[in-house]
Amino acid sequence: MIDIKHITKSFGSLQVLKGIDLHIDKGEIVSIVGPSGAGKTTLLQIIGTLDKPDTGSITIDGIDVRSLSTRKLSDFRNRHIGFVFQFHQLLPEFTALENIMIPAYIAGKNTAEARQRALELLAFMGLSDRAGHKPAELSGGEKQRVAVARALVNSPAVILADEPSGSLDSRNKAELHQLFFELREKFGQTFVIVTHDEGLAAITDRTIHMKDGEIETPSAPPIATTLNSSEEEEPTL
Ligand code: ADP
Repeated sequence: MIDIKHITKSFGSLQVLKGIDLHIDKGEIVSIVGPSGAGKTTLLQIIGTLDKPDTGSITIDGIDVRSLSTRKLSDFRNRHIGFVFQFHQLLPEFTALENIMIPAYIAGKNTAEARQRALELLAFMGLSDRAGHKPAELSGGEKQRVAVARALVNSPAVILADEPSGSLDSRNKAELHQLFFELREKFGQTFVIVTHDEGLAAITDRTIHMKDGEIETPSAPPIATTLNSSEEEEPTL
């Protein structure tokens, strides 16, 4: 689903990504962890086509995104990728239902289609009775679930989440994490989640550790262990 080859990215003289190779299968739920400044958000922005790498290639759902014109890229992003941020970023003047419908409008769906899809998603989230509420009238957990519904409205193949549970209490956190797995089960989406939340990272299919702009590979066994184990081997004659 996502194939990244040797991506580099610098901001001025600071090299933030130093040659990232990453392959993520369809339906995988992958977490990206690492210290602040490691380059996690930059990598997520590049996967989300919100930013461009300096070098390297990136293929999403079989499409070489670096070959797309700006207009095609924006269309691609709207149809193939859903974003969930730490702070829900719902528009305060619109209801939950309207917030979910907005990306569907942008993608060219008519009002009836967009409304139907948004209502289905609200029902899936257990929020049908909140359709007419504005963000200020929703709890933190509800707002985040509306934000997830909005990310799903165009049935994207990939959901990218940056600290999605960062602003939630532990109960809402657990519910949101559970929701990601239910969505994968129902819609088959691929998730890439940047998180500091060890609980979330622990339950994902795979955790990518980043440090100083690189993906850390699991360290090799200590040399003493290697020597000991070879000593124990039967000599081959
Ligand atoms: P992380 O998500 O792991 O905390 P980021 O990808 O946000 O790391 O940032 C990596 C480094 O790149 C940081 O040193 C940050 O200050 C720098 N950086 C990120 N975005 C920009 C930008 N638009 N302009 C300049 N520097 C940036």
